[in-house]
Amino acid sequence: MRVPIIAGNWKMHKDVQEAVSFIEEVKNQLPPADQLETAIAAPTLCLVPMVKAAEESPLKIMAENCYYKNEGAYTGETSPYALYQAGIHHVILGHSERRTYFNETDELINKKVKAALANGLCPIVCCDDTMRRRVAGKKVHWVVSRILADLHGLTNDEICHVTIAYEPSWAIGTGESADPDQAAEGCYLIRQTISDMYGDEVANNVRILYGGSVTTSNINALMAKNDIDGVLVGAASLNPETFLQLVHH
Ligand code: PGA
Repeated sequence: MRVPIIAGNWKMHKDVQEAVSFIEEVKNQLPPADQLETAIAAPTLCLVPMVKAAEESPLKIMAENCYYKNEGAYTGETSPYALYQAGIHHVILGHSERRTYFNETDELINKKVKAALANGLCPIVCCDDTMRRRVAGKKVHWVVSRILADLHGLTNDEICHVTIAYEPSWAIGTGESADPDQAAEGCYLIRQTISDMYGDEVANNVRILYGGSVTTSNINALMAKNDIDGVLVGAASLNPETFLQLVHH
């Protein structure tokens, strides 16, 4: 049984005060985490006050990124070790905006995934989908090569703590969601790839989310698909009422 997840990704929105008031507003209206998990990824500055505000609520507070070193001369970076110590146990890695605007490569993301897991953080690894490409003369779907590269070298134990988000780049922040069949196909392809890497049992337990212009209007159709275990929501997660509507879809 894969417990579904509704996860918000605030990106670079909200200051500390706004973030804490949001938590105060939603925290007593969330379902128990064994029925449906709820999570919000927020800017680094907001995380510690949000963890405090969300104490005794099922809401998980997630970082939007972290580095792959625990400490050192890496000006401006966030340590996965320090995140864990501060009570932040989840992190988004490899978001399409990180790949596009900050030139993050599969190799870097793979290092970050390993470092996050080594420090006890559960990553949501984002797999964008932009095009098809040829690898070694064979047509390999973009999604497959992303997953192979980003999760390269993870053990069976480690992969069980990973969630994957299938996010077509053209659907992120555009108001143009993938239709539920397309979204489910992307998630299915990812599950097949995990199955090839780790076997069916592991693949059946890994949760795969869809992200890209999810709203209160399309969430039901998306969540109705067997291959979609939840959603990663940007813009529509910023308003507390809308977030609650998504949660109670
Ligand atoms: P969006 O963002 O819901 O605003 O399209 C999704 C995401 O970036 O994860």
